[in-house]
Amino acid sequence: MKRSKTVSRREFVKAGITAAGALYLGCPDVLAASESAAGAVITGKSGGEFTPYEAMFYKKLEDARVECQLCPRECKIADLERGYCGVRENRGGTYYTLVHSRACALHVDPIEKKPFFHYLPGTPAVSVATAGCNVECKFCQNWQISQFRPEQVNSMKLTPSDIVEHAKRSHSPTIAYTYTEPVVFYEFMYDTARAARQEGITSVVVSNGYIKEEPLVELCKHLDAVKIDLKAFTEEFYKDTCSGSLKPVLETLVTLKKLGMWFEIVVLIVPTLNDSEKELKEMCTWVCEELGPDVPIHFSRFHPTYKITNLPPTPVRTLEMARRIAQEAGLNFAYVGNVPGHEGEHTYCPGCKEMVIKRVGYTIVKNTILNGKCQNCEHPIAGVWDLKV
Ligand code: SF4
Repeated sequence: MKRSKTVSRREFVKAGITAAGALYLGCPDVLAASESAAGAVITGKSGGEFTPYEAMFYKKLEDARVECQLCPRECKIADLERGYCGVRENRGGTYYTLVHSRACALHVDPIEKKPFFHYLPGTPAVSVATAGCNVECKFCQNWQISQFRPEQVNSMKLTPSDIVEHAKRSHSPTIAYTYTEPVVFYEFMYDTARAARQEGITSVVVSNGYIKEEPLVELCKHLDAVKIDLKAFTEEFYKDTCSGSLKPVLETLVTLKKLGMWFEIVVLIVPTLNDSEKELKEMCTWVCEELGPDVPIHFSRFHPTYKITNLPPTPVRTLEMARRIAQEAGLNFAYVGNVPGHEGEHTYCPGCKEMVIKRVGYTIVKNTILNGKCQNCEHPIAGVWDLKV
């Protein structure tokens, strides 16, 4: 891997506003040696000092071991070892996150890029990430930051109030926790979402949904919307392609529904691996019956990357088939993603079928929703269309 250039805090924040595409502070190269010393301050390659924070969800075990209670892996960790995600470390029987205030990506994106299609359309979202993930998807688009430890990725110290200030300066009503897996930087996200709400800034999470119920419920108190990547509808795909499991993700979706949280679902369709008519029918039927007809579902186009470079991009006709299956299952808002200009990017009123939001890629061309309703027939359009005052 090429060593990335060191950037100052000022350059980092400025680039976060102006760069096209998410800004990463570089790819992994050498490991820092200092971070395992108990209680030590971690020095990142790009100059910040990173203080370990005690984790919020874990149990102490015998012999200075701990059990992480954040995600369904429930890692049991010996002293001076880390969990699967590589960003949490046991130091003498106390469990720490190593990525609080340690951002490796910062950018202002259209909210449509997350994608959220029914949440404050046409507005910007300050998007932030740290290193790490609790699964390993072989098609990960951000593997250069998700599949490495924090000291292997250039990062910059940015506190929750720094992120909130950045949102205010960039006139972004929302902070999005995204790019890698926000569950693994839970405490950083939690503190930022709480600080953001005090300043009238909303928070949305883009997640794989691989989280235990207690931390999810606690986090949702401070969130405004969630996007869940439903990777497939078989345990086999989750195990073989993502090193995860489906059941906890379905439980997360049901919990979000019970909590009344606004959420949308994205399914990346990978040719031959999760694109069968049978699987898509089962998935869409489950979503409609368990979560309701108004949950937006986005069928997104795969492009070869990371460890899956032997498969072609998803044919558009496969995405169209998935959209048709979702509509036949009773879902009101089924979208085709990563195909700019496709008619499946638009929102149509479930009542009169009139187009109410026209999109091209991440751009809103027309939005005729007024007070959450179709102007043509007054049918309510599910979503969050205005900031709560
Ligand atoms: S969050 Fe990390 S350490 Fe905790 S259980 Fe999940 S993978 Fe393991």
